[in-house]
Amino acid sequence: MVLRFGNLVDAWYVFAKMPERNLFSWNVLVGGYAKGGFFDKALNLYDRMFWVGFRPDMYTFPCVLRTCGGVPDLVKGKEIHVHVLRFGFESDIDVVNSLITMYVKCGDIHAARMIELPIEPDLITMTSVITACELIGDERLGREIHGYVIRTEFSREPSVHNSLIQMYSSVGLVEEAEEVFSRTECRDVVSWTAMISGYEKNLIHQKALETYKMMEADGIVPDEVTIAVVLSACSCLCDLDMGTNLHEVAKKTGLIFYTKVANALIDMYAKCKCIDKALEVFHSIRFKDIISWTSIILGLKINNRCFDALFFFKEMMRTQKPNSVSLVCVLSACASIGALTCGKEIHAHALRTGVSYNGFVPNAILDMYVRCGRMKYAWKQFFSCDQNVSTWNILLTGYAEQGKGTLATELFQRMVGSNVIPDEITFLSILCACSRSGMVAEGLEYFNSMKYRYSIKPNLKHYACVVDLLGRAGNLDGAYEFIQKMPMKPDHGVWGALLNACRIHRRVELGELAARKIFQDGTAGAGYYFLLSNLYADNNIWDKVAEVRQMMRQNSIIVDPGCSWVENKGTVHAFLSGDNFHPQIKEINALLERFYEKMKEAGIQGPESETPIDIINASKADIFCGHSERLAVAFGLINSAPGMPVSVTKNLYMCQSCHNTVKFISKEVRREISVREAERFHHFKGGICSCMDEGY
Ligand SMILES: [Zn+2]
Ligand SMILES: [Zn+2]
Repeated sequence: MVLRFGNLVDAWYVFAKMPERNLFSWNVLVGGYAKGGFFDKALNLYDRMFWVGFRPDMYTFPCVLRTCGGVPDLVKGKEIHVHVLRFGFESDIDVVNSLITMYVKCGDIHAARMIELPIEPDLITMTSVITACELIGDERLGREIHGYVIRTEFSREPSVHNSLIQMYSSVGLVEEAEEVFSRTECRDVVSWTAMISGYEKNLIHQKALETYKMMEADGIVPDEVTIAVVLSACSCLCDLDMGTNLHEVAKKTGLIFYTKVANALIDMYAKCKCIDKALEVFHSIRFKDIISWTSIILGLKINNRCFDALFFFKEMMRTQKPNSVSLVCVLSACASIGALTCGKEIHAHALRTGVSYNGFVPNAILDMYVRCGRMKYAWKQFFSCDQNVSTWNILLTGYAEQGKGTLATELFQRMVGSNVIPDEITFLSILCACSRSGMVAEGLEYFNSMKYRYSIKPNLKHYACVVDLLGRAGNLDGAYEFIQKMPMKPDHGVWGALLNACRIHRRVELGELAARKIFQDGTAGAGYYFLLSNLYADNNIWDKVAEVRQMMRQNSIIVDPGCSWVENKGTVHAFLSGDNFHPQIKEINALLERFYEKMKEAGIQGPESETPIDIINASKADIFCGHSERLAVAFGLINSAPGMPVSVTKNLYMCQSCHNTVKFISKEVRREISVREAERFHHFKGGICSCMDEGY
């Protein structure tokens, strides 16, 4: 039959040419359209069939009812129900089954229940009705059917059990699913997988793993669905050992050839920070689908390899049409490395393909503009999309990072005025903006209004913001007192805010107290070592600086290698610390040398002073800064027209020496230079930085 090949146009052509169209051919065509998802066509055909005088039969009704459920079109469905009664098919089991499914899918549970079952329902009725409950998330009907199942011989059917497990876990009733699972006598791979997926769907990852181990112990061989689901649990738990085991199992059983399994492996390795393993799996996939590409792009992004993420995205575009998830991933990669041109291209692509309003895409576009420091574009995007609380938060965070407190508070007022209710993140941004702009009184007022006006309980991050607010403004004792009065145990973030304030205001003793709290459990990240080491360095306590370095070695703290990015004519160029491989490196170094000489002449301490203290100083700054932004700035200057601004993005903090150097360069070449570092933006113009040298 023509329809088997899925080519409906041909089928229609053949049909139209048929000298005698019988009921059978009408049915085949209606069914074909319905199966192919052309619901409108199928319904239309059903109507035509009437006009030319054919009466539908017990084969027509299931097809056309399935169509009504698929649209879903309840009005049409009811009309067809009338036909069923008129032509006397109300006792045909297939017709009745499809009537029930149609009503359930159209959301009219009441009508579904009113249908009298002419004879005992068969196995297909049971599983399809349970699946329908799952689809529409109707737990009450599901329970009723479960009750019915228990009273009949269906209670021994594994397929009914499996559907029940799936149904219960889909509506969040894990205990009921467990109950059914425990009563299932012959558990096959489908039952086990249903239970494991049930746990995974409800984010009980540990149980999903345990159940898989029980299944293995029972001697059941997993299929591709099982492996993919268990891998997803591994990636959520960052369980690399188990994930690697599953990789072995997948290789041995040949399940690795399922793209679904390979995709799950990519995701698992990426989340466990083994991006090279993820890449290996990715390259081994023969038929890469959109999920394979999206997984590897996201993986590169979360492993701080945004530069590569952009490359893979461009590769993907040659064979795949990106979906909204892949666009969100790549936009966030653009935002991380300040790839404005690339981000704009993706924005244009999203507009062309009509996905610019889908899901998280509008906010991802906004975030990209904000983090590239382009507020004009950001506002344009803001007005062109539906504004929810996250949209406002992204803009607020932008103003906070740029240290524009007044603008941020104005924005907050506008947000509240537009009847958008602020959430936890809103307050983090506004508190951060206030503290960067020294607006202590306003900040404290926002903090208090959280609880009293908006009923939001402040969390540890909000407390850290207040410590930062007080500390930056110089009220260190107030900040310390505030910590002591906190209703919960302060974490690294809270003490870190105090340590940072002590660094800015050179309060060694209080800083050491904060540091002791931070380092006592040995889990502190590299950023805290940076703060402590700088606190000592700024106060010329060099033996302590050496001690911090020693501590880092002992605790095997790894600092990401310093990297800066600058865009030139639409291409992003990356510069690693001490990079000697760039084709223009000679030119770049020569230009920097000229600046250093001029700085020396002007009596500004450049990076090349040779006193022993500065050697230690430089080595301390080396690991936390890497000075890669100088290379990027010089490259930007060489390759753009005089007077054009240069924007650089870097992954680490900016050291004092680099800050001084870029300040000097901005004055020397009369250009605006912006550097976005790990924490904030620095806009250099005429030898002055927008951060007003705070902390430098
Ligand atoms: Zn530096
Ligand atoms: Zn600055």
